[in-house]
Amino acid sequence: MDTLRRTKIVATLGPATDEPDVMAGMVRAGLDVARLNFSHGTREQQARRVQLLRQAARDSNRYVGILADLAGPKIRIESFREGRVQLAEGAPFALDTALDPAAGNVCEVGCAYTDLPADVHSGDTLLLSDGQIVLEVEKVAGTRISCVVRAGGELSNRKGLNRQGGGISAPALTDKDLEDLRLAAELGVDYLAVSFARDADDMRQAQSELRRWRGEARVVAKIERHEALDNLAGILAVSDAVMVARGDLGVEMGYAELTGLQKTIIHQSLARNRVVITATQMMESMIQSPIPTRAEVSDVANAVLDGTDAVMLSAETAAGRYPVKAVQAMAEVIRGAEKYQLGTQRSIVRAEEDFSNTEEAIARAVMYTANHMRVRAVVALTESGMTPLWMSRIRSDMPIYAFTRHENTRRRVTLYRGVYAVPFDIVHQDTHSLYSAIFDRLLELGLVDLNDLVILTKGELSGVSGGTNSMQILRVIQH
Ligand code: PGA
Ligand code: MN
Repeated sequence: MDTLRRTKIVATLGPATDEPDVMAGMVRAGLDVARLNFSHGTREQQARRVQLLRQAARDSNRYVGILADLAGPKIRIESFREGRVQLAEGAPFALDTALDPAAGNVCEVGCAYTDLPADVHSGDTLLLSDGQIVLEVEKVAGTRISCVVRAGGELSNRKGLNRQGGGISAPALTDKDLEDLRLAAELGVDYLAVSFARDADDMRQAQSELRRWRGEARVVAKIERHEALDNLAGILAVSDAVMVARGDLGVEMGYAELTGLQKTIIHQSLARNRVVITATQMMESMIQSPIPTRAEVSDVANAVLDGTDAVMLSAETAAGRYPVKAVQAMAEVIRGAEKYQLGTQRSIVRAEEDFSNTEEAIARAVMYTANHMRVRAVVALTESGMTPLWMSRIRSDMPIYAFTRHENTRRRVTLYRGVYAVPFDIVHQDTHSLYSAIFDRLLELGLVDLNDLVILTKGELSGVSGGTNSMQILRVIQH
């Protein structure tokens, strides 16, 4: 079991990972969670990717979670007669929701989102193609938004469109999302990401839809809209995890704000005991190149030092030339960064607040002890993974082993920083044989040596979810 690295790696599946060898290579290189991007690909492709991934995970005897990422109401322009146009700075250009979708040209292009003219006003800045093209709105009349090109260049079919400062009010779950959500539930994914979530209600809707299809996925709110930042506390209250979705967020808020926003979102997530993923363009140059740039290395390392649970690869793996190398490079950079985090492991959050329940109290006490005493590992006997989740909210270089009999818990904890799943069934009558079984498993996996101290947490009634109420400091012995 590779336990050298604490921060987890999420990588997006796509055409470049569809070969079994590539998938296996990524899993071996340390992939923790695979992302299905529902913005691209057919249902059959997604289902096949799930199959390939599960096979690769089984073959290398690792647990890999699956995150299904809904496309969301990304507003896109329609198409150009010639596939693309060159927009010149200063030239007029119009968006028209009534235009034939295939009839775009250098003066105008269609847009399927018919509420767009109601959501924008003269003086607004519109950004296309992740901010490459900038338009200033001059006039809105009927279905037509007349603009002037402020930053020009090539614009091709179906590129994304954002309004600077946010405020385009499409609901987060489109009809396509609702269908994809059902597919995600059927495929048994571990996490479901809601794109362009605006508030807690969007997340609640996703949760109730999941329940309807008996999905067990935990929900991830992608923070990529102005409104989501305003409602961050409410979103965190009902979500299991958030994603710092720097692509669209950088477009809506301006890229200069991103670094500060990333740190704020990570800090808030940890303070509220939530999981956080940092995403987009982390190793962008690796789409074409076998090694990352120094700036990319630094970006990944800084996210690690900020305390993120996971860093994410998008096109680098889904459509890049070096998907396996991208995962390898990420793993290396994480290890390199974590070396410099040693000795800075002190609780920074919730020092002044009351704990919300027994499990959190135990988890806090454990990590406080672990960080101030020479123990080798923390072992949590867990049903749902809740205790390891609480534990991992305190940043530590202490490995946390989630001993559980539930396969879905083992896949879920793959996203938590510093948590590793170990299959373990509690069939022991007395404490003595339980401890021996735990020690045997730890020794067999090479996770501890004889005479090491470990901290164990469990409930009086093992097998009951939410029952953890004790912590023990034990010395590893064999008999
Ligand atoms: P996307 O989300 O890749 O689905 O757009 C991530 C982001 O916007 O950063
Ligand atoms: Mn996005």
